[in-house]
Amino acid sequence: MAETILVVAEQREGKLNRVSFETLAGAQALAKQTGWTVEAAVVGGDIAAVASELAKTAVAKVYAIADPSLEPYTPDGFVAALKKFIETSKPKLVLLPHTYQVRDFAPKLAATFGAVLVSDAVGYKYESGKLLFTRQMFQGKFAADVSLAGEGPWFASFQTGAFRGDQVLAGEVAADVEQVSAATGEIRTHPEAPFQEAKQAVDLSQAAIIVSVGRGIKEQKNIAIAQALADALGGELAASRPICDAGWLPMERQVGSSGQTVSPKLYLALGISGAIQHIVGMKGSRSVIAINKDAEAPIFEIADVAVVGNLFEIVPALTEEVKKAKA
Ligand SMILES: Cc1cc2nc3c(=O)[nH]c(=O)nc-3n(C[C@H](O)[C@H](O)[C@H](O)COP(=O)(O)OP(=O)(O)OC[C@H]3O[C@@H](n4cnc5c(N)ncnc54)[C@H](O)[C@@H]3O)c2cc1C
Repeated sequence: MAETILVVAEQREGKLNRVSFETLAGAQALAKQTGWTVEAAVVGGDIAAVASELAKTAVAKVYAIADPSLEPYTPDGFVAALKKFIETSKPKLVLLPHTYQVRDFAPKLAATFGAVLVSDAVGYKYESGKLLFTRQMFQGKFAADVSLAGEGPWFASFQTGAFRGDQVLAGEVAADVEQVSAATGEIRTHPEAPFQEAKQAVDLSQAAIIVSVGRGIKEQKNIAIAQALADALGGELAASRPICDAGWLPMERQVGSSGQTVSPKLYLALGISGAIQHIVGMKGSRSVIAINKDAEAPIFEIADVAVVGNLFEIVPALTEEVKKAKA
């Protein structure tokens, strides 16, 4: 079996999902250690443009698995198309971004090969020729290293924020794009129009700067202090779960294991203790500034900048400084 890592990138309406680049970065890092080759595949109807975009990254080849029946997405169509392709191309490892779509079809795809999907991995280890994927267990209280049985193909998906999409290596020359015709067979589902999120819904996973408030904010009216800082920085406002549970901010702004997973360039945690259920949702942030009056708060363990103090004094002063700097 060829020692190839196949990254199945995700696209919707001709736009690549950002998490696909994170998975590619993970695959490239793994390939550097193992000496394996990275290839990418994308599946859909009209995917020429996204295939060319993928070809700019440092991959050996891009496969455009296209058929009109693959648009819109259906689990039957994607499983049939990828199964046929993987049977022929025989990658050692198939890596996918852990998106809702991947959760929908990838376990079945793996099962058709008598394999499992090692889902939502936060990293990998390659030790003495053995590949292990790290998965969080029991709400992040434990990390389990999962080994893979058999000769492959193996299947794994990476959690959002496990790798940094901006660290994907660009190719010296564009990779070849091979068109793969897909036989999808019977498609038993007929999707309705895609779900339209409410206009005010925010996708925190795309935000570059997030100002997040926790119970240290004390009262709903004080959220204005954090909003002012978010506005000054041009960032999004987010919160820990108790804030959303109390209805002080909408649920869509919750970060954590039962909220959104975010990986901004800058995450400001204001009055957040750093419970594991919160940490799992923001640990992929590039820089974390935490302001907390308790010097022992667990959030400081993962903060790049730890500010021990009263947020009601620090945050307004910080907002003024940001405004001055930007003026
Ligand atoms: C199944 C399950 C799922 C969960 N999912 C999530 C989730 O998705 N997201 C999430 O966030 N939580 C989640 N939780 C809840 C989580 O366990 C914590 O209870 C929660 O994250 C705590 O929120 P907090 O840090 O805002 O509050 P607290 O833990 O009460 O911390 C408040 C912090 O504010 C500080 N503080 C107080 N006053 C000030 C001040 N004036 N200036 C500066 N700092 C101050 C305190 O020192 C303290 O550290 C979940 C729990 C369970 C059981």
